[in-house]
Amino acid sequence: MGLLDGRVAVVTGAGSGIGRAAAEALAKEGAAVFATDIDPEGLEVTASNIAAAGGKVETKQQDVTDEALWDTVMEETEAKLGRPSILVNNAGIAIGGAIPDFSLEDWKTQMSVNVDSVFLGTRAAIRRMQEGGGSIINISSVAGLRGAPGLSAYCTSKGAVRLFTKAAAVECGRAGWPIRVNSVHPGIIDTPIWQKSITRLGEGMPILPDVPVGANALDADTLGAQASPMGRPGRPDEVADLIVYLASDKSSYINGQELVVDGAMTAGG
Ligand code: NAP
Repeated sequence: MGLLDGRVAVVTGAGSGIGRAAAEALAKEGAAVFATDIDPEGLEVTASNIAAAGGKVETKQQDVTDEALWDTVMEETEAKLGRPSILVNNAGIAIGGAIPDFSLEDWKTQMSVNVDSVFLGTRAAIRRMQEGGGSIINISSVAGLRGAPGLSAYCTSKGAVRLFTKAAAVECGRAGWPIRVNSVHPGIIDTPIWQKSITRLGEGMPILPDVPVGANALDADTLGAQASPMGRPGRPDEVADLIVYLASDKSSYINGQELVVDGAMTAGG
C-alpha cells in the first residue's frame, strides 16, 4: 500500500530533472500522475518510466505561462484520472546576467515562467480543491532565501514563490478550504538546468556566493562540490522524497512553510 493510493497529482516540468523524479516518486506511492511539460519528448521518457514501474500516468504538453491551458490541464486531469488533490508547480528556468546588462525582456520572461505559472497553477488547483482538499507544492530554491550575484531575476522570482506560498496557505486556512501550500527550496541539484543556463550567463559571472569567479563551470558536480558542505550536488530523487512527504498525510500539519533540501548549503560556512 502506497502513501498516496487513490490520489491524483499534477506535476509541471515533469519531462526533466526534479519534475521527472517527482512524477515517478508520486506514482511509486500510488498517485495517478498527470505529467506536463513544454518538452513533449522529455515527457514521453517520464511516462514510459512510470508505466514500466506499474504506475498510472497521463501526459500533456503545457506551457505553464499559458493561462487558458491551465483550465484544460485541470479538466483533462479530472476527466482521465479523477479530481486532482496534489499539484507540484515545478517548471522553471534560470536566466542569469549582471544587473546593468540585464534586459527588461529577460526579466519579464523570468517572472512569467517562474512566478506567473505558480499563481496560475495554484489558482486553478484551489478552484478544484476547495471541496475535498489538497496539497500544493511550489518549487522555489535556496535562491529564494538569499541573494546570489548574477542571478537577481532568478532570486526575485524564487523569493516571490516563497511568499506567494505563505499567502496562499494563510488564505486557504482562513477561508476554511482544506488545502495546504508549501514551498521546497533545493540547493544545487544534478539536473540539466545548469547546462541550459550556460548560454544565458555572463562569462566569469559568479552565480553563487560560495563559488568564486572563474570557478563557475556550470555543471552540477562542480557547483555542488563547492556550495554544499557535503561536497556533492543533490540528486533529483532526494528532492522528490520531500515532495512525496509534503503531498502525503504524513505532513498534515505542515502548512505555509519553506522546506530546504540543500546538503547544508545555507546552514553556514
Ligand atoms: P530542468 O531539468 O531544466 O527541468 C525543468 C523542466 O521545465 C524542463 O523540462 C523544461 O523544459 C520545463 N519548462 C521550462 N519552461 C517551461 C514552460 N514555460 N512551461 C512548461 N515547462 C517548462 O530543471 P530542474 O533543475 O529539474 O528544475 C525544476 C525546478 O527546480 C525549477 O523551478 C528550478 O528553478 C528549481 N530548482 C532547481 C535547482 C537545481 O539545482 N537543479 C535548484 C533549485 C531550484 P525545457 O527543457 O524545454 O526548458
